[in-house]
Amino acid sequence: MHDNHYIKLLRKTEKYAEQYIKKAEHMKVVPDKRSINQLSVFEESMPGMSTNPDKVLQLLHTYGENATVAQTAGRYFGFVNGGQLPIAHAADWLASTWDQNSALYVMSPLSSKLEEVCERWIVELLRLPKQTAAGFVSGSSNAILCALAAARNNLLLRQGYNVVENGMRNAPKVRVVLGEQAHVTVWKALSLLGFGVKDIEVAKTDELGCIKVDTLPPLDGNTLLILQAGNANGGGFDPINELCEKANEAGAWVHIDGAFGLWAAASNRKKHLVFGMEKADSWSVDAHKTLNVTYDCGIVLCKDRASLVNALRRNGDYLQFSENRDGTLYTTEMSRRSRVIALWAVLKQLGAEGVEKLIDGLCLHAGYFAEELRKNGFIIENTVCFNQFMVKCETPKQTIDTLKAIQDSGICWCGKSIWNKEPVIRVSVCSHRTTKKDIDKSVQAFVKSSS
Ligand SMILES: *Cc1c(COP(=O)(O)O)cnc(C)c1O
Repeated sequence: MHDNHYIKLLRKTEKYAEQYIKKAEHMKVVPDKRSINQLSVFEESMPGMSTNPDKVLQLLHTYGENATVAQTAGRYFGFVNGGQLPIAHAADWLASTWDQNSALYVMSPLSSKLEEVCERWIVELLRLPKQTAAGFVSGSSNAILCALAAARNNLLLRQGYNVVENGMRNAPKVRVVLGEQAHVTVWKALSLLGFGVKDIEVAKTDELGCIKVDTLPPLDGNTLLILQAGNANGGGFDPINELCEKANEAGAWVHIDGAFGLWAAASNRKKHLVFGMEKADSWSVDAHKTLNVTYDCGIVLCKDRASLVNALRRNGDYLQFSENRDGTLYTTEMSRRSRVIALWAVLKQLGAEGVEKLIDGLCLHAGYFAEELRKNGFIIENTVCFNQFMVKCETPKQTIDTLKAIQDSGICWCGKSIWNKEPVIRVSVCSHRTTKKDIDKSVQAFVKSSS
């Protein structure tokens, strides 16, 4: 393809993007049946013949776009799916244009430099120990896996056992302690690292989903303690300082899963929620959630750089490591897109002040949303401490029926969960695009759906 055609294709893309950006706000938040049915145009066998690229793009524009979930607009409150700041989108376009591979310095000095800079900035923003290392991964799932690998290997090494050499089969025991409300991705990472469900000691949690300190099993120097900063249902935070102090005394390794909640550290209003978190050994956090960076962008942080690198470094004859930062040393992958470009752009545009404003804005909007629902007779299940909450109606049946009507309305979208054995509606305010007006409109949808 000639460059002229290439550029024409991008111009067309820009036009499609422009249309989508203008349209997203007015779209149904989830696609209607007709749009979903039309996805059948993609069901064909592997084409034998080639297709004109304009035609390919046109198919995505016509049939793909209508079936998207409008999560770049302001009324998507499902899961903890973050919005996307315009600068993130724009920088990510450049990243795609440049098609950098972030594995090694020699593959992309640019990625290497921006990773180095973002590592420093994030460590500072989150008020972590200066020497903390960061790896830039696809999301918290991977960040947790990397951190727990570092933790496991380090705890075993302290017992004189090199797991990289000798494997898990004959390894001495490492204890794992976590709360009942630990995220599924923590369980998945543990399973991948050779820990069975029966190996894991579970502490009880309270009505906010936070670990009850008095139910914590005694810790020792062979223990990996996993805490949560931000419960995916109600946003509750484990009592981090108290638990970290216990762990430090015992010589245990502490990991904090703070996929969306760790960002509390960057807000003066919210930092009390993660007080003492610098006493942990490793952390995982998503930039694609609270920080509104483009998917996919997660970060693993480890106080001891060597523990992280030793768990993830493998040498290959053709790998050319350098004196500079080689990104693959901090992640499970070798080839990786340069997601740090969008991350850097967001941090550069916002500055510490802007990051704080973004976080505080999400939290304020969540509080307002909950209060308006309460005024309209809904039951708010938890105190709103961060950006999310759970809401229900008088009876479980009413809750389920209301949620279904909300989801069908297309005005806003919320997911469901189970809390205290009862169904609840989860609301997560995670986009910079959400305005009071969006919330008012959504509250109306709740009211209408419950009658
Ligand atoms: C979202 C979330 C995860 C998983 O993060 P991904 O980026 O989706 O992999 C882990 N823990 C918590 C608390 C979360 O909210």
